This record gives sequence, structure tokens and C-alpha cells, in this order.
Amino acid sequence: MSELLPPCTNACPVRTDVRGYIAAIARRDYVEACRLIRARNPFPSVCAWVCPHPCEEACRRAGVDMPLSIRELKRFAVENAAWSPAVPAPATGKKVAVVGAGPAGLTAAYELVLRGHRAVVYERHRSPGGHFFTSLPAYRLPREVLQRDLETILAAGVEVRTGVEVGRDVTVTRLRDEYDAVIIGVGLRASKRLDVPGGGLPGVYPALEFLEMANLGERPRVSGRVAVVGGGDVAMDAARTALRLGASEVLVICLEEREQMPAHRWEVDEALAEGVTLLPGRGPAGIMEQGGRVVGLKVQKVKSVFDPDGRFNPVYEPGSFESVPCDTVITAIGQAPDFRFLNGSGLKAGEGGRLVLDGEFFVAGVRGLFCLRRDSRRARPGHCRSSLRPQGGGVGGPLFKGRKRAAA
Ligand code: SF4
Repeated sequence: MSELLPPCTNACPVRTDVRGYIAAIARRDYVEACRLIRARNPFPSVCAWVCPHPCEEACRRAGVDMPLSIRELKRFAVENAAWSPAVPAPATGKKVAVVGAGPAGLTAAYELVLRGHRAVVYERHRSPGGHFFTSLPAYRLPREVLQRDLETILAAGVEVRTGVEVGRDVTVTRLRDEYDAVIIGVGLRASKRLDVPGGGLPGVYPALEFLEMANLGERPRVSGRVAVVGGGDVAMDAARTALRLGASEVLVICLEEREQMPAHRWEVDEALAEGVTLLPGRGPAGIMEQGGRVVGLKVQKVKSVFDPDGRFNPVYEPGSFESVPCDTVITAIGQAPDFRFLNGSGLKAGEGGRLVLDGEFFVAGVRGLFCLRRDSRRARPGHCRSSLRPQGGGVGGPLFKGRKRAAA
């Protein structure tokens, strides 16, 4: 199938009709451009700001001079076209509960509503949006941009119950009894913990918790020198947020050399332009403390990050330890599932910390329970690397299918 798509559309995780909407913009038919964009994506405004635009890397115009600015054109269209809410299909009488009002959960709910089903989304935070709301700093994604997309989703008829934590205020089992189906769309909402001496000291923040506190106005205590461990986009967000919260200096320490860093090139460039210092090729070996307080990070030089087969398997140079004085450590070394939503349901995560699925989406052993899984190791908020769309109208069937990772 992918060979039949234009390269830009094939590279887009939601398979946007890029040629169609750019042609519509060229005709000044912005409403049609928006219709084509929204046909694949209920978060067009968010993507117009923060999508890493793999479509542009695939753009064939690059063979002539330079790729088209596909994301900027999307932004122009969504900001300049009048838009009326989508009209849902006639009501089917079926109702579905969705756990988590993040991008996947809201996309699922939106598509269900358009097909005439009732969709009720349960969200533990006070606002919907998931990682867009809790993890992405407002300087990257202004909240009015997110609000625009949320309003469209809510106007279509999606119901969101905020401040309700599944696993604490209501169980998955109870939802399963009350609804025709339950969809789990909680994403990877926990930070992986740094397993080194001192990793649990006060002053050591997992990046997602740090960003969530900053975005929800709780202002994590940041002063002096901050060391951010990790080389991905979340590390860049944490570093730039720490600067904004008053850090005198921010160092990013990562295993990879700069060219190998998993963060997008422009995210690293922007962090450096703001004054962040990069210490590449080093891994954390321990956190130094004095009187119960963080005073530094012990790091070790990295010989290689990947083995000859390309697997992540860092090897360190023996005895090559250095001390990096700092007052705060933020760890951005990856994300993990958080299964608290299963509390009280009798369900448990299986081997490897994953829900056991029967096929692509059915949770094994529970009729009517579906899981929207992340199908990309690099997926993170704003990247749209695993968006979902229903494949049929029946609630009892396999409603959703994960989009395959973009072939960049
Ligand atoms: S969603 Fe992202 S990848 Fe898809 S067309 Fe828009 S900018 Fe490109």
C-alpha cells in the first residue's frame, strides 16, 4: 500500500493528503484545505506547531532545490479558514468509555462520535489534552492553539470527564459493565527511573513529572546549576524549561555524540541557542550528595552506545569518571507505561510490563476492552507517530488500527 502513496503522505504518520491540501491552498480554497487536513487528524493546529514534519524530509522538491514547507502551509490553512464543526452520523445507541484524554484517546473518541456512537472520556487531569497539556512547554505549543483543536473535538459531541482517575475513582471493570466497550488510551505517562546511587534524592526529578509540574503551574524548585540526563526531545524541553524557571546554567549530559542524539536536530540547535551546554558521550554513574542534597553528578565517558547489530548497549571507558557539580538533576531517559488505571479491576500487566493483547487491540480475556498501543519507540507528545483511526462502524468489531511508523 505504502508504494502507492506520494512520499510526503507516506511519511506522514496520519497519511495526510499533503498534495491535496497544498493544491487547495494554491487555489485559495482554504476551507477545502482544512477539510482534507481534518479528514485524517483532529489535532491539525497542534500538528501545525509541533509536528516534526517527516513529510518534508520525504518531499521530492528537495531534488530540485528545497522541500516545501508543508507544516507551515498547514498552519496557514488552519489559521485562515473558517471551520464548522463536523456533523456526526445518526446515533447508533452504543456508548464507549475512553480512558485518557490524550491525543490517542481523544482521536478515538472523536472518530467514534463521528460514526454516531456516544464517547465519554475519563481524564485524571483538570484539562484534556494529555501530554500536549502536561508535557509540552507553552513556548513550543501555545495553549490557545491546543484549545482550538480541543474545542472542535468537544463541539463534535465528545464528552470529557476531567478530574476522574480510572483506577482510583472508578474501575475499568465498572466502566466495562456500564458501556458497550472501553478503550484504553493512556499512553506512556511515566518517566523511566535512573538506577544509580542517589537516584531517589530530593532535587532529582524525572523529566515528565518536572514538565508536568512546570506546565500545571506548580513551579518545581530549580536554582543554580541543573544537569539534564538524556539526549531526546524531552531532555531538550526539560533543559529549556529549567532555564525559564531560573536555573543559572543548564547542562545536557547524554550517552550519544551530538550527531547520534535522538532529539531532532532543530530541538538541539534551539536549546544551544538559548544557552544550554551539551556534554555528549557521557553516561550517569551516580548522584553526589552532601547532607541529603544533590551537589553533583558523577559521569563516565562512553566508548560506544550501540553494538555492531545496532542494538542499544552502551559500553563505557574503564575508570573514565568525571564529576559535574550541580544542584538539580532531571532525568529524561525514556518513558514507561503506568498501570495504575488497572487498580481494582483484577487486571494486571503481563510479561515485560505490557498489557497482553489478543490480536492488535483486544485486551486478552476481557470482551469489549481495547488498547490503543504506541507502535513507535520514538513516539512522544506532538510527534503524531502513532495516531489512530477506526476501521469500521461497529462498536463490537476491531474499531481501531494503529498507524505504522512513518517511513522516513
Ligand atoms: S501531520 Fe506532520 S507529517 Fe503529516 S503532513 Fe502535517 S506536518 Fe507533515
